[in-house]
Amino acid sequence: MLVIRNIGELVVVPPGPVPGRAMRTVDRIHSAAILIDADRFAWFGPEDSLDAPSRCESIDARGGCVLPGLIDCHTHTVFAGTREGEFVQRIEGKSYAEIAQAGGGIRVTVEAVRHASLEELIETTLPRLARMLHNGVTTVEIKSGYGLTVEDEIKTLQAVRLLRSLQPVELIPTYLAAHTTPREFSGRPDEYLDLVFDRKTLARLRDEKLAEFCDVFCETTAFTVEQARRVLNAAKQFGLRPKVHADQISQIGASTLAGEVGAISADHLEKIDDAGIAAMKRAGSVAVLLPGCSWFLGVEQAPARRLIEADLPVALATDYNPGSSMVESLPLVMSIACTQMRITPIEVVVAATANAAVAVHRQDRLGAIQVAMQADLVILDVPTVERWLYEPGRNCVRTVVKAGRTVVARDSQR
Ligand SMILES: [Zn+2]
Repeated sequence: MLVIRNIGELVVVPPGPVPGRAMRTVDRIHSAAILIDADRFAWFGPEDSLDAPSRCESIDARGGCVLPGLIDCHTHTVFAGTREGEFVQRIEGKSYAEIAQAGGGIRVTVEAVRHASLEELIETTLPRLARMLHNGVTTVEIKSGYGLTVEDEIKTLQAVRLLRSLQPVELIPTYLAAHTTPREFSGRPDEYLDLVFDRKTLARLRDEKLAEFCDVFCETTAFTVEQARRVLNAAKQFGLRPKVHADQISQIGASTLAGEVGAISADHLEKIDDAGIAAMKRAGSVAVLLPGCSWFLGVEQAPARRLIEADLPVALATDYNPGSSMVESLPLVMSIACTQMRITPIEVVVAATANAAVAVHRQDRLGAIQVAMQADLVILDVPTVERWLYEPGRNCVRTVVKAGRTVVARDSQR
């Protein structure tokens, strides 16, 4: 047994999905305590009603706030190389097309990933995951999509699988071969899709458990709604649940497609329309918002308040990638959501825990403070979530517990 005492405020996030308007009504217990048995929550409540066994391990939260471990439900964390040249070009006013013409953009990362060995991909990703864990993130979804050949996509997913046993963050793999058409298939996207979505490859992903989800970048600059529908339905037959990069740059019906194919989530949604909202509501899809990406690119944010008032379960993620969101800190993205999207801190916490768990189909086990669910939690060095997100850029995480085990224990600066 492990007991956590002296909790200033326990944020009792319920299991997801938490629909938009319910995201602001989360219970909080002041002067709380938690009992953990092996890897599960056994009890929580006011500390004065704690009945702890006499001999058990104990953590003093020192008045800090406690919340579920954060879940980063949309990332591209396995990549090679960096693109700071493009970052500067964008600051100087170059367009997406101009950057691509000058040899920049996603293809730079594709070349670097193709040249990297499996071991090199693992080595570059390990410190990123360690820093994410220190920011309170206990579960991360990771997409392929920089290999763009069957072998290089599978190499990326193998890296994710091997990384699971090398560090404590729980990793969830997504097949995103439909990220963009690689240079060698320029002008022939359907031929490329036939290659990376052939039955043999999909069967291998299923049989070797290399991916749980299939994602498509459905956009004027990537794949059409028809192409996305075709590959998502093909992948579904092999047990890969659909996700969609939808409505980021333009409105071509991608979020409506997400609803139509029963996507577990539609992500981005900067340009979502009423039809997309209705389709997602019918399908029960999670709206995954990526405010760090719009912030990094200096473009308009998704209409978060509209989605919350429409009662969609809204989640937040970093979209961590070397092109459009070189932001690995989910707490920073949560603060950006507060100030740029006008989502309140308590809504933000639900978005990065309970609803993020639904976006990766882990809501039965992760993302909540609930007896019998897995004991993943964060202890902050501040007393409330409001105080935490009010201080972007300072790491307020003091302790991280994953599956009942202390995996981060820092001495606070405060
Ligand atoms: Zn993305």
